[in-house]
Amino acid sequence: MRNTLAGGRVDVLLRFRPDIDALYEADNGEARTRHMRHTALVGLILYNLYNITSFYLLSDIHDFTVLVRVLVQTPACLVIFWAIPRVGSFWREFMVLPAMLGVTLFSVVVVLMSKSPLAAYTLGELSLALVFANMLMVFRFRYALAMTLITCTVTIAGLSVKAGLDEGLRISLMLQMVICCIFTLYANWHAEFQRCRSYLAELDARTRAATAEEIGSHFRDLSRTDALTGLPNRRHLDMELSARLERGAPLAVMMVDVDFFKLFNDRLGHAAGDECLRRIGAALAESAAGAGGFAARLGGEEFTLLVDGDETAGRALAEDAINAIRSLSLAHPGRPDGAPLVTVSIGIAWGRGETPQTAHRLIARADRALYEAKRQGRDRLSAAA
Ligand code: GH3
Ligand code: MG
Ligand code: MG
Repeated sequence: MRNTLAGGRVDVLLRFRPDIDALYEADNGEARTRHMRHTALVGLILYNLYNITSFYLLSDIHDFTVLVRVLVQTPACLVIFWAIPRVGSFWREFMVLPAMLGVTLFSVVVVLMSKSPLAAYTLGELSLALVFANMLMVFRFRYALAMTLITCTVTIAGLSVKAGLDEGLRISLMLQMVICCIFTLYANWHAEFQRCRSYLAELDARTRAATAEEIGSHFRDLSRTDALTGLPNRRHLDMELSARLERGAPLAVMMVDVDFFKLFNDRLGHAAGDECLRRIGAALAESAAGAGGFAARLGGEEFTLLVDGDETAGRALAEDAINAIRSLSLAHPGRPDGAPLVTVSIGIAWGRGETPQTAHRLIARADRALYEAKRQGRDRLSAAA
């Protein structure tokens, strides 16, 4: 059921789906590595204090237990401590399983080996080992499950064959072991379940935020784009104009108007007119891009070009734009001046300054220059006085 709840992104052993596991590792691998190393070190130091308890509880094999702890288990643990940050996530989690089994099973072995009447009390250490692995280091649930089941089974088996043990003590130790296994395993499952659940919730929140951002930016683009030509619209032009003026450098502004466009529409129809505007828009955008400038559709058959610089930069871009439209070779059958192709007229103004009035004045001057270009016969540019 939990599987379904998590949308199949975690299984009954609390394993993430591989793609999510990779994300989890990228987000949390470092912190997990640090945690494991810290707890391994603390665990190792405390574990070696059992050399003192062995002295009392396992007096007949005390030397053996100390030798195994100091010469086998401690170096093995140090190797693992060294390897934890150097291996992949699988081995990092997996290799502590045999290490902990070495610890828990060793307790059972020494209890069986020792003839000391107090030997069975060593199993108290085993309970703490389970607490350490399942609750402090928080083994991944699958390894906690494996370690706990193996430890529980071996301990029960060991206790049942241990000679000379009071029957009441035998039963009690067995029960204590079972309870400790259930208790620590449940704690481990709970911690692991919370870890998986909160990470999946974090992923969901991230996905929702990314989607909202995507939708937002899509609508932002739409609100700044002219539907017919795909060029920036007037709103975007205003923003770009202010932004460029804010930089403080001189700016050239060009008003571009298609010549005799009404007659084009009248002769060839509105659909052909739309297509013509699209082609002109694309050509203007290309010219502007080539000059590091900006092209927008102001509305109707009017466009605006911006380019950083003064009259020289403005004239260069305007000439390029006029030539680009001529090169489209769009036939215009209805011109009163007899010219055969679609052309544009351009008025240029330039200036600098940050106030909204500057932008307004630049547009008005470019508009007047455009009027002049029209008056002089169209298909040309005219610069503001
Ligand atoms: P001038 O050379 O003086 O600029 O003459 P003009 O005919 O281009 O100017 P006018 O302002 O009289 O006409 C503009 C025409 O542009 C009117 C309208 O039919 C056309 N127009 C405006 N917007 C669109 C559009 O989105 N699609 C089409 N197909 N035509 C449009
Ligand atoms: Mg016009
Ligand atoms: Mg026109």
